[in-house]
Amino acid sequence: MLSEFDLIKRYFARHSILDSRIALGIGDDCALLNPSPGMQLAISSDMLVSGRHFFPDADPYTLGHKCLAVNLSDLAAMGAAPLAFTLALSLPEANPDWLAEFSRGLLALSDEHGCHLIGGDTTKGPLNICITIFGELPPGTALRRDAAKVGDDIWVSGTLGDARLALAGYWNEVRLSTSEHQLAATRMHQPIPRIALGMALRGIAHAALDISDGLAGDLGHILEKSSVGATLFVDRLPAGPVLHKQSQDLRRQFTLNGGDDYELCFTAPASRRQDVQTAAAQASTTVTHIGHIVAGAGLRLLDEQGQTVFLQYKSFDHFAHP
Ligand code: ADP
Ligand code: MG
Repeated sequence: MLSEFDLIKRYFARHSILDSRIALGIGDDCALLNPSPGMQLAISSDMLVSGRHFFPDADPYTLGHKCLAVNLSDLAAMGAAPLAFTLALSLPEANPDWLAEFSRGLLALSDEHGCHLIGGDTTKGPLNICITIFGELPPGTALRRDAAKVGDDIWVSGTLGDARLALAGYWNEVRLSTSEHQLAATRMHQPIPRIALGMALRGIAHAALDISDGLAGDLGHILEKSSVGATLFVDRLPAGPVLHKQSQDLRRQFTLNGGDDYELCFTAPASRRQDVQTAAAQASTTVTHIGHIVAGAGLRLLDEQGQTVFLQYKSFDHFAHP
């Protein structure tokens, strides 16, 4: 039987962390961090609950990836550089195969971003994974939700909707071929946090957030916090490669309302269009100009002829789904 201490040592503790910002990692009562001189800390937590955020039989490797990816995505949305994270894990049993794969997926992404696991807590209970992440950025450079200005362009990174389409495939709402479903499911299970883009947009973008619950609902948070409105061109929303082949109606619904995309939505002055494109190229990420920030409140959807499109938009709300 694996003790709690053995489990941590075997699957999560690394012998040494070669990063001068980590003074002490796993093993003591607290970890000790030395953020780079003059930098501000950015901190965020995300909890993933079995049966709510992922299927109970989810592949442990991709689950490890996703748990960290959604937290890294929050750093990206502020323009912060990753530093470290803690992992609070509640597990029904200490299954060595599950733990080996989960930690492999988790630590592969952590290595990719130089974001070190520095501590956590482990307990027996229903499968529940909570990560708290720490990043850093120069004071005054964070991409905040309350910083959008009237006249700003609205941009989105990458493509939208394939993660939602994968869910529709699992639920048999839409028929997809096996290869299409696999491609879409990769978007759902292994989101790519847009860290490089977030950092490259410091000093260029005004407001930003990452899209977890659907573009329309999440953009609504920027509008509310910044006391502005927005016009979006629905048919300019970049659909994922699988969704792209579906009907216009489904494309509109899923690009606008589909959750789990983890792309960045950001605003920037129209005078900085070239700088936005340069930042995106630096970060090897595509960006699409999808609308404008306007005076007033709320979101107006337009087609390419400038006609208002009436679509229900509603972000995913866990408390609205029993
Ligand atoms: P304490 O009793 O002080 O809470 P624990 O016995 O829970 O300490 O944990 C021992 C060490 O292992 C601590 O440094 C803690 O941060 C770390 N730790 C516990 N669980 C995890 C985990 N799932 N991942 C990474 N580190 C962990
Ligand atoms: Mg403890």
